[in-house]
Amino acid sequence: MLKQFIFPFFLFFIFDLSAQQDIYLNNETYTYEETIQIYKNFAEKFPKKTTYMEKGSSDFGLPMSLFLMSEKGDFSKETIQSQHVILINNGIHPGEPCGVDACIKLCREYLNGKIPKNVIIAIIPIYNIGGAHNRNCCSRANQNGPVEYGFRGNAKNLDLNRDFIKTDSKNTRAFQAIFHYLKPAVFVDTHTSNGADYQHSMTLITSQLNKMNPALAQFTENTLNPYLYKSMEDDFPMVPYMHTFKETPVDGIIDFLETPRYSTGYTNLFNTISYVTEAHMLKPYPVRVEATYQFLTHLIQFMTDYPEEIKAARNKAQEELLQQEYLHLNWQLDTTVFDTIPFKGYQAVYKPSAVTGKERLFYDHKQPYEKHIRYYNHYVASDSVKIPTYYILPKAWSYFILDLSNNQIPHYSLAADQMLTVDSYEILDYTTTSSPYEGHYLHSNIQTNTVSHERLFRKGDIVIPVRNEALRFIMETLEPRAVDSYFAWNYFDAILQQKEWFSAYVFEDEAAEMLKKDAQLTADFEAMKASDSSFASNSFAQLYYLYKRSPNYEPSVNLYPVAKTYENLDEILLLR
Ligand SMILES: [Zn+2]
Repeated sequence: MLKQFIFPFFLFFIFDLSAQQDIYLNNETYTYEETIQIYKNFAEKFPKKTTYMEKGSSDFGLPMSLFLMSEKGDFSKETIQSQHVILINNGIHPGEPCGVDACIKLCREYLNGKIPKNVIIAIIPIYNIGGAHNRNCCSRANQNGPVEYGFRGNAKNLDLNRDFIKTDSKNTRAFQAIFHYLKPAVFVDTHTSNGADYQHSMTLITSQLNKMNPALAQFTENTLNPYLYKSMEDDFPMVPYMHTFKETPVDGIIDFLETPRYSTGYTNLFNTISYVTEAHMLKPYPVRVEATYQFLTHLIQFMTDYPEEIKAARNKAQEELLQQEYLHLNWQLDTTVFDTIPFKGYQAVYKPSAVTGKERLFYDHKQPYEKHIRYYNHYVASDSVKIPTYYILPKAWSYFILDLSNNQIPHYSLAADQMLTVDSYEILDYTTTSSPYEGHYLHSNIQTNTVSHERLFRKGDIVIPVRNEALRFIMETLEPRAVDSYFAWNYFDAILQQKEWFSAYVFEDEAAEMLKKDAQLTADFEAMKASDSSFASNSFAQLYYLYKRSPNYEPSVNLYPVAKTYENLDEILLLR
């Protein structure tokens, strides 16, 4: 009853676009339905400047919404892809809705005033649709408002900001379709921080510069970032995200390494300049929304003022990418190198805990300080791989075709059976998480051996050319040692299990025969026994050692099925 009574007043409010009494000022955030209705109303009232569309679906079952706005209002695919697009993603963590409310304010102000030139503003109003429907008062235990908000997990309890490579959710498929439709120059994912307390209301994750193409990294570091930090200085002085080196910021902070599983790690694979805004969790909600709003307006202003500079940096990055001989895959922090940055903190103080009796940390607001702190922001590549001309994916693994198509990766089918000289990987070793991580038992520390050999490929096997604008996505997913490879995310686990075994009493005679005939094998076997006492006392281990060297042992175990070649296969007839 109450709802029916309230509803007409609510409708009046959201249709009144000149209203300035955004609900965030009252420590509230819009529900999913209210948010989408507001964008539909914008599109209805300003059809020459905006459009609202639905692209793809979500695990919750509702479509993914996309709102576009520009001064010229031309949203043909050609115009979109030839212009500067900024894509803003809100509510991937619906408990952190600053961006949801900031973008509504931003649209309202632009539409009732002036829309900046030279830029198409694209907004995903709320990305985690399932989480946004799971509203509650309290799941962000350390956050200061709003009074009610959505939940971090989506309808399948996935953290969508870990899903951009493994693609377990429909939301991610929708995002990939939107991203490749827009080909944005700039991407922003809006969040609220966790962790330390300090004076700053806004912190920023810039896509990690060392793993970025050098031309784009230089432009971001020397031109765009200084502009953004300076623009924010008066109202919301900004610092990099406080990923602390030790317990508190005063001991320094570490540049956040967003691997491809994260939204900005993914978008940056395609040379899109990418940011995560992290408004500070303990600041009042209106302050967090304002800080997010200000950051977005400054970034859009930069895009309006310097469209050619952004285009030139991205074009150079793309050209250089195609000329590279090697691709760096995995990265490690170099703790011997750091910058110092000005920082406004609160003194960290320790006192006995009333709960545990142990020492506890608190940040004393009566002791604010300003000092320079260390910013460890230098990562070095710990692995690199020579860029092949093609990967070849046996058609048995064709469920990746959806991922290839969704990410607009060119791929072909072999027209006939074909022997090819390729490199294949043997998986030698890896570490696996002992409990599930985002629905997977993620592998890491993957060790491989490369085998160059002739391999028979079948008609219909999938051939993927590498030297194109998706080069980094292709290699980050198909090189098994890469931190977010499909192998790491368990998609090739079937190859890690031996299928045939032996009965020891039957194999005994064959093993004895093998040793009799092969002096080298016998020498190796005896050396192994001499050097390893547990091996020397374990008869099964000894027989298994010999079994693995016998013709009975299967060659497919631990053989990574995706092959690669450095040869030119243009002569081979390929079917699309
Ligand atoms: Zn977040």
